[in-house]
Amino acid sequence: MVKRIAVLGAGTMGHGIAQVAATSGYEVTVRDISDELVQNGINRIRASLIKFVERGKLTKEEMERILSRIVGTTDLELAVRDSDFVIEAVPEVFSIKAEIFREVDKIAPPHAILATNTSSLPISELASVTERPDRFVGMHFFNPPQLMRLVEVVRGERTSDETIRRTIEVAKSMEKEPVLVKKDVPGFIVNRVLVRWLNEACLISERGEFDISLIDSALKGRAGLPMGAFELSDYIGLDVMRDMIDAMMRRGFVLTPCSRWSELPSRGMLGAKSGQGFYDWSRGRPQIPPNPNADFDPMEVLCMAVNEAAWLVRNGVASVEEVDRAVVLGLNFPKGPLRMADEYGLDRVREMIEEKARKFGLPEYSVDPLINDKVNRRELGMKSGRGFYDYGVRQLEFGPVIYRETPPIAWITLNRPERLNVLDDEMVSGILSSLMEARREDIRVVVITGEGKAFCAGADVRKFKSMDPLKAFEFSRELNKAFREIWEFQKPVIAMINGFALGGGLELAMACDLRIASDKAQLGQPEITLGIITGGGGSFRLPELVGSAKAKELLFTGEMIGAEEALRIGLVNRVVDHERLEEETRNLAMKIAERPPKAIEVYKALLNGQKHDLESLSFGLIFSTEDSKEGINAFLERRKAEFKGR
Ligand code: NAD
Repeated sequence: MVKRIAVLGAGTMGHGIAQVAATSGYEVTVRDISDELVQNGINRIRASLIKFVERGKLTKEEMERILSRIVGTTDLELAVRDSDFVIEAVPEVFSIKAEIFREVDKIAPPHAILATNTSSLPISELASVTERPDRFVGMHFFNPPQLMRLVEVVRGERTSDETIRRTIEVAKSMEKEPVLVKKDVPGFIVNRVLVRWLNEACLISERGEFDISLIDSALKGRAGLPMGAFELSDYIGLDVMRDMIDAMMRRGFVLTPCSRWSELPSRGMLGAKSGQGFYDWSRGRPQIPPNPNADFDPMEVLCMAVNEAAWLVRNGVASVEEVDRAVVLGLNFPKGPLRMADEYGLDRVREMIEEKARKFGLPEYSVDPLINDKVNRRELGMKSGRGFYDYGVRQLEFGPVIYRETPPIAWITLNRPERLNVLDDEMVSGILSSLMEARREDIRVVVITGEGKAFCAGADVRKFKSMDPLKAFEFSRELNKAFREIWEFQKPVIAMINGFALGGGLELAMACDLRIASDKAQLGQPEITLGIITGGGGSFRLPELVGSAKAKELLFTGEMIGAEEALRIGLVNRVVDHERLEEETRNLAMKIAERPPKAIEVYKALLNGQKHDLESLSFGLIFSTEDSKEGINAFLERRKAEFKGR
């Protein structure tokens, strides 16, 4: 049981840690090297406690009781001889710390745990000056310890599990949120992540790409950070930043430090404390309002935090959750970098870092293998249903097609609304890749739909302009082949027709097993108006559905019909209110999903037809006519075609 805690050093961190320990009920001795320094520390504790009293967080009596639990001294022996737990917070100089631990090791009771608050020195090396490396641990508080809830508990090479357990217990009893850092890497978790994004922001400004206040206002307004990169650097102190980076790099941290870290301090510009840094602080805190519309993507800076966070996870320093939790608590981020990356898309994060590598070639612009692996497995974050975290819903993007699973239904959405989901090669291959995914066992029904005003308005007419008969034949054969994949897919496929379904778009819908249309849908085979014929199954699927006479009417006139008419002639199975389209489709899909999949598969096989090749040949032939050229040109030139029958 830990009852007495010794705090060595009564400076910035020491006095705060002593205060927190005493507030949590421990008997505390705090030691510094002169009476004056000890008294200074005690005075700071009192001043801080008074603030808590003023804010109504403590009563005066509680404050006095806390103070009565703290004994200040310059006598090291007195400070540690009865202690169960020692927290060292003396200057960040190896020889000073080593010297003090050598002595403490001799004086402190054998069961006492020795903890260091170092930010950058190797825990294991400090431990090795003592005879109790198993009872030696890193306990990294954040400034100010009275307010910051994070404590990084750092395992040295020989730290025992029992020591870790007790240290975590002590941290929790102080109402802190300990995060276990499983390996003693320079900068632990938070400072590694911190240095990455602050340095990146600095490099970007150094290259003259963006102004510092623009970057900061975007980090605040668009990423929701409490302080921008330059504001925070100034606040921490540019000399502190410089020293921290130096210390980490000496221990092998790979970074190209921004020149400002040394240049500004060498001119006496240390940030907030000197009144000048990146900003002018002489008249108080600089005004950098958050700008949610800032013309700078904060991920340009934060991608480096993501890359570092991935490194930490991959190297077993901490789990995804723990890395994010540490950054949220230690830097007051609204969410952790790995969560941010999931929201942004890991593919985009990777692309961003690769772009930096191409442009600037710095060693730190090497995408962490964990990110690469995830992107290669198409674990892209929220949009694919999984990234660093698992979101339950699986969602993938194949070019302009979004594939989303809500088992037992898979949804394939043509997602190029600005071009009415035009059916080009990319779109077709996106649909086919999605179908491959939908073969998973937990998927029973597939729904194909379009984003925006159109289900799909057909092929890209601009492409027809340069088409000769052979190319046209090949084009049509490929399209028919693709539609046959849908037609012959072993699971039922429903077309959810949300708007225009024209030409190839209607043929896509007809290649599905069932069609459910919004009351706003418009359907048609307008190929004839271009002087050509259908190339994706219209010539044989349409008559199968609506009968020869109705099919001829639609094919010969090329006119669009509304959803109700389509229902009347049997082109669609159901028409529903536009607002309820998805709900009704889901209901229908769920009903089918409850039926035996094998029986449905057999039905589909029985009902298959194989007329694709004949249509493709004919589609090729039609491109040898002059009327086809006239029709296509007239369409592109927005004039009425004059067909001569040639
Ligand atoms: P500080 O200079 O404010 O305080 C250090 C104190 O230790 C001074 O009062 C000094 O007189 C005293 N001291 C020196 N030798 C001593 C000895 N032999 N015995 C007892 N006291 C001695 O420094 P600080 O900012 O409090 O940093 C202390 C430690 O905490 C460092 O290792 C630092 O890296 C780490 N740390 C600092 C921060 C921060 O933001 N300041 C945050 C986390 C960790």
